[in-house]
Amino acid sequence: MPSKQRNTSALALKLLEERGTFWLFDCGEATQHRMLHTTLKPKKLEKIFITHLHGDHIFGLPGLLGSRGFLGGTERLDLYGPVGLAEWIEVTLRISRTHLNYELAVHEVEEGTVFEDETFRVEVQPLDHVIPSFGYRIEQKPLPGKLLIDRATEAGVPKGPLLRELKEGRDVVLEDGSIIRSGDVTGPPQPGFTVAILGDTRFTANSIELARGADIVVHEATYDGATAHLAAPYGHSTILDAAQVAREAGAGALIANHISARFLPEDARKLAGEAADLFPVVEIAEDLAEFEWKDGQLRRLP
Ligand SMILES: [Zn+2]
Ligand SMILES: [Zn+2]
Repeated sequence: MPSKQRNTSALALKLLEERGTFWLFDCGEATQHRMLHTTLKPKKLEKIFITHLHGDHIFGLPGLLGSRGFLGGTERLDLYGPVGLAEWIEVTLRISRTHLNYELAVHEVEEGTVFEDETFRVEVQPLDHVIPSFGYRIEQKPLPGKLLIDRATEAGVPKGPLLRELKEGRDVVLEDGSIIRSGDVTGPPQPGFTVAILGDTRFTANSIELARGADIVVHEATYDGATAHLAAPYGHSTILDAAQVAREAGAGALIANHISARFLPEDARKLAGEAADLFPVVEIAEDLAEFEWKDGQLRRLP
């Protein structure tokens, strides 16, 4: 249920530097309206991952899909989610005569790797909710090492585009025919980031697997310690469950979302405090909150 303070679920993973795009995880009602309060542009939306088919996670999809075309989105869009998503989208778009002017590829997921290219891999595992619900693990592959400019110059590489090629991991041929290997003039590869974004769930071992060693885990925390008796019957977690997952997974930071409407914004600090004994780095995701992961630190942006 939305409240004045809290809209239904949606989360954007900004990959503007990495891919020039962003990915969306869930798309509750009015997600596109909330996006108007951000810098996110629907035409840059590359992928949408749906954790499960409850209305508070998908009722914003048809509207956003329709608007994206009007807002200059012509690139293909990939939509991932549980079985039933393709049928729902097909019927909704057909009955409402919504014609998309871009390619929409719907992928129904079960378990395993759902996407992989040169720079990212996305893995999905089932969680434990009242209907099928999934968690996604997003891994950025190692980045090329830093260019060792002195070594490149010594090897005879002129200033200019060849340096860039080497920096991005490609070998080059100089004018005199000699081959310079990228690995010889760059430092060791830098690790990429890993983030686990989990759908509605009770405490479950698969959450820990998905979040294993992740820099950030995004876990629901519908309840607190005092309302913990409601968590299991409704298929949800408490802030303590979320902290336990982050702890057992050895994650770097926890962002707790899907907070029940019973908690007011001023309760956020208390919720984070409850988790602190189990796990030190906890942020509560209020609506429109934005976080940055840089140099191994999670930072809340102003
Ligand atoms: Zn749900
Ligand atoms: Zn939900």
